[in-house]
Amino acid sequence: MAEIKKDLVIIGGGPAGLSAAVSAAEEGVKDLLIIERDVRLGGILNQCIHNGFGLHTFKEELTGPEYADRYIQMAQKAQIPFMLDTMVIDLSYDESTGDKIVTAMNKTEGLFTVRASAVILAMGCRERPRGALNIAGYRPSGIYSAGTAQYYVNMEGRMPGKKVVILGSGDIGLIMARRMTYEGAKVLCVAELQPYSGGLKRNIVQCLDDFGIPLLLSHTVVDIKGKRRVEGVTIAEVDENKKPIPGTEEFYECDTLLLSCGLIPENELTNKLGAKMNPVTGGASVNESLETDIPGVYACGNVLHVHDLVDYVSGEAAVAGKNAANRILGKNAAENDGTVINIKTENGVRYSVPSVVRPAFMSDTLTVRFRVGNEYRDKNLSVYLDGVQLMKLPKRVMAPGEMEQIILVKSKVLEIISGKESEEHELIIRVEDKE
Ligand SMILES: Cc1cc2nc3c(=O)[nH]c(=O)nc-3n(C[C@H](O)[C@H](O)[C@H](O)COP(=O)(O)OP(=O)(O)OC[C@H]3O[C@@H](n4cnc5c(N)ncnc54)[C@H](O)[C@@H]3O)c2cc1C
Repeated sequence: MAEIKKDLVIIGGGPAGLSAAVSAAEEGVKDLLIIERDVRLGGILNQCIHNGFGLHTFKEELTGPEYADRYIQMAQKAQIPFMLDTMVIDLSYDESTGDKIVTAMNKTEGLFTVRASAVILAMGCRERPRGALNIAGYRPSGIYSAGTAQYYVNMEGRMPGKKVVILGSGDIGLIMARRMTYEGAKVLCVAELQPYSGGLKRNIVQCLDDFGIPLLLSHTVVDIKGKRRVEGVTIAEVDENKKPIPGTEEFYECDTLLLSCGLIPENELTNKLGAKMNPVTGGASVNESLETDIPGVYACGNVLHVHDLVDYVSGEAAVAGKNAANRILGKNAAENDGTVINIKTENGVRYSVPSVVRPAFMSDTLTVRFRVGNEYRDKNLSVYLDGVQLMKLPKRVMAPGEMEQIILVKSKVLEIISGKESEEHELIIRVEDKE
């Protein structure tokens, strides 16, 4: 089997992989390679032809392909090599050399390995499939994940159906409610199990409200009718334990059911590598440098945690690229003094990325991203470091569909922890009532 050597391999050529590669190249890494299994760069953005991308990064409203193209052009300008139609099938760590061994294959090279000093994981995420949903009824045609339907409509010019019910109010489902309507289909409703939507507020307004499509919160599909093709679905209201309430069932005649019930980070390779995982995000557990517990392996974008906006993906990935470059080029001036801050999330905050901070390796500021587990109105977001309140941020609305972030300032962090005996510190992020 052929083996090549690289300083840096980036797995995945979506927005995360592209931004990480561009940033690493800007920092001075020359010997790098993006490996992408698709026949083109750009990741999921290629099928997202609606606009709304790039407001933060470019201060413009771009479509998904336009946004991706900006980064593809940056990568081309930096002459970053990439391999398309190439699938990474294994990733391991050679403890004796510190090398990461990337095993991949494609039609021209066959099976080959790349020995790399550093690897950036940027494999994105996939949709939760129907099999994971446990809906009663036959398995007729006409049931698609929302992303598959999006691929058919936007990439292949095929309509999955004419009368549609959507289960789950994740962003892809909301976007597809509008898209199917534009293409002449009738979208009857979006049913959501939770008492809140899993998508962005702006998508609820622009994709449902503007088209008069009802959003049924605390509702689910309890039965699917039809043997060969979907003929209709029964939707019922659910109680606080998510159990259907008898007597609330309503039948919707339709030929298509789209599922938008969550995204799963694609971490098969991360698991093979044996990196420590975060059970809440489904991604790797990372430190302030977005480095996993395997030295020299970084993660960013949707493979790390599902993002709401691609702008945040690009920003996060640029940080991963810079940190990988610093490692490769020996630019990490700091010595690991053993001090760590463990981030604990509680009282409504589900997780944080990163989950561990080594102050010695912090930049002047560090962005910590997280999501809440419920809808909150007029609350404070409080942050404590070793019991000292670091922040109290009044929040009008916080919702599970929208990512939150705080910025930690290194000088303030050091002010609180320096001089303390213990090397271990605790930062708590929580939702609190306003006094
Ligand atoms: C339908 C939909 C609508 C969206 N709408 C918006 C919006 O309006 N505004 C917005 O800001 N954001 C939106 N987003 C979010 C945005 O598209 C994502 O946040 C972003 O694409 C994530 O980037 P990524 O690089 O992490 O993942 P991806 O874009 O998924 O890229 C990952 C890449 O890795 C490759 N890969 C995976 N495994 C391997 C492997 N083993 N070997 C080689 N390559 C591999 C994949 O082929 C893929 O190209 C939307 C997302 C979806 C799905």
